[in-house]
Amino acid sequence: MSDADARRAEGTLPRCPDCGAPVRCGLRLGEERCWCMAHPPLAPDPTLPEGACLCEACLTRRLEAQARGSRGPKDS
Ligand SMILES: [Zn+2]
Repeated sequence: MSDADARRAEGTLPRCPDCGAPVRCGLRLGEERCWCMAHPPLAPDPTLPEGACLCEACLTRRLEAQARGSRGPKDS
């Protein structure tokens, strides 16, 4: 793939709704697997657009927050 092709491909990638970085989703690129499959599922978040893909940095951050939250005080 040439540099021009790579740039064009990047322009079509979905953007991370948190930070705006291009998200390289393997499934959307026609591959069998996506790097996100190596992570645990993220609970549905009403603040995210339906079907949105987060970049790895933001997915990891949200998963860490989710893990902390699930062990939080039982006051709800
Ligand atoms: Zn991001």
